[in-house]
Amino acid sequence: MSLASGAALKGLGVGLNSAVGEVWKVKPHATLPARSKSAHGAEAEAEGLKTAIAAVAADLDRLGEKAGGTSAEIFEALKFLLEDDELFEVASAHLADGWSAAAAYGMAVDEFGELLGGDPTFAERVADLQDLSKRVQASIAGIELSLNLPETGTLVLVGEDFSPADTAQFTPAVVGVITTKGGPTSHTSIICRSRGIPAVVSCGDATELETGDSVLVDPVGDRVVVGGDASLATQSIQFVAVNAEPVIPVRSNIGTKADAEAAAKTGADGVGLFRTELLYLSEKTEPSVEQQTAAYSEILAAAPAGPIVVRTIDAGSDKPVPFLDMGHEENPSLGVRGYRLIVEHRSFIEDQLKSLEAARKATGREVWVMAPMIATVQEAADFCNLARSIGEFKVGIMVETPSIAVLAADLKGVVDFVSIGTNDLSQYLFAADRMNPALGTLLTPWQPGLIRTLARIADAGKAAGISVGVCGESASDPTFAVVLAGLGISSVSASPSQVDVVKTALSSVDLAKAKEIANAALAATSPEDAKAAALAGLSA
Ligand code: PEP
Ligand code: MG
Repeated sequence: MSLASGAALKGLGVGLNSAVGEVWKVKPHATLPARSKSAHGAEAEAEGLKTAIAAVAADLDRLGEKAGGTSAEIFEALKFLLEDDELFEVASAHLADGWSAAAAYGMAVDEFGELLGGDPTFAERVADLQDLSKRVQASIAGIELSLNLPETGTLVLVGEDFSPADTAQFTPAVVGVITTKGGPTSHTSIICRSRGIPAVVSCGDATELETGDSVLVDPVGDRVVVGGDASLATQSIQFVAVNAEPVIPVRSNIGTKADAEAAAKTGADGVGLFRTELLYLSEKTEPSVEQQTAAYSEILAAAPAGPIVVRTIDAGSDKPVPFLDMGHEENPSLGVRGYRLIVEHRSFIEDQLKSLEAARKATGREVWVMAPMIATVQEAADFCNLARSIGEFKVGIMVETPSIAVLAADLKGVVDFVSIGTNDLSQYLFAADRMNPALGTLLTPWQPGLIRTLARIADAGKAAGISVGVCGESASDPTFAVVLAGLGISSVSASPSQVDVVKTALSSVDLAKAKEIANAALAATSPEDAKAAALAGLSA
């Protein structure tokens, strides 16, 4: 049944501009053939399987090259899963039992999945593996998995959520995106924000849309309007810089050398978050101090002028690092992750700090170091003592747990700075798994529970003489960045693609105006009202 013209579907908007286009529903891929026994013998099937794995690996390389930056690292990590030797051995045992290559690989992946089952973080990895298994089986059966999008037209893609492999195939015809699941930090949101494609995510009712329907994607209004034209779009704020400098510094988030180079082309004032673990998502062996020093030196040298805030390894949960054996955990996002690795992997964190000190000396850059996932003042003190004993850094911690957010005032004299990771802080504050696409509405930064927590941390930091930055995805939203400045946050760090727009937004207001807007958002009792209050304040 088609939706009536004028129907408005609620969701979470990504971006400042609207788009009108025709719905292009991304069809579920063709079904794979049923598992069968081989007619060609184990040896021929093993060859076929190797060929299919190599073909999928080449596809991933191609997609990674097209996507570049941090997305390229994601494809590297997928390739690492795809080419896992143990997986191939399990599949070979099924080949020896007479199964076809596609069946044997599918069965091997299922068995791996069962071993890892029941664990929400591994569920992500299992989903990746299942996706790869589907690709390998499709390659064997000659089934096309690509989206096959036209190069021209004005399409609004509608799907459940889009994987890195999907978004890498978006063509210039894609003017808007709607997902039924996925939150503000989902891959789809990050990619759409960075490419300036208007999107509405977490829009459950979009399942009712049909290919060919004309829709208005209205991210500022957090909605999709069936049959709507541009005149119905909620007025977006056209930020115009009126001051030479933003009210607070805007830094860039980076993970790789390519990111550092991209950031250097923006107006970023240094780096606010260098996610070091992104260098190691597919490393099977621990890199030596020399190797790390070389990698960090290259990245420090390429980074934009200004301080560079480096985070020590944040392995675990959604970021598995193969050479750090973390064992099996029932609930890894509440497990041994981030700084908690200090117990079992102290030498790696020490080596990171030694390498960073060597890279700092080699490049002459100003380096700040911080530890992720700190929950107690004692952990903060231990990390700061360790870092100060190794190098000439400014030292700090990330605020990502409700516990350390409440204790921020007690960090006086312990840390030089803190940086709030709103992605994890939201996850733990709202007890809402950041990887669960069904929980997007709890994870929007406009939630009053988050805004008021940020205000308290900023106040505590000010009283304690500690600078308080924000480096989570929320700082990449220009309107929210103005609220952050008004709350008393001392710097923000955004993804390279968002640095300049966030900088313009923060150059369009003075501090008094930002405070007025933040106070209006602080008074709101729902995310919708908080966002509306900020937008009204900006256009007043
Ligand atoms: C965060 O949690 O907000 C953050 C910046 O860290 P990451 O997204 O890498 O966990
Ligand atoms: Mg985090």
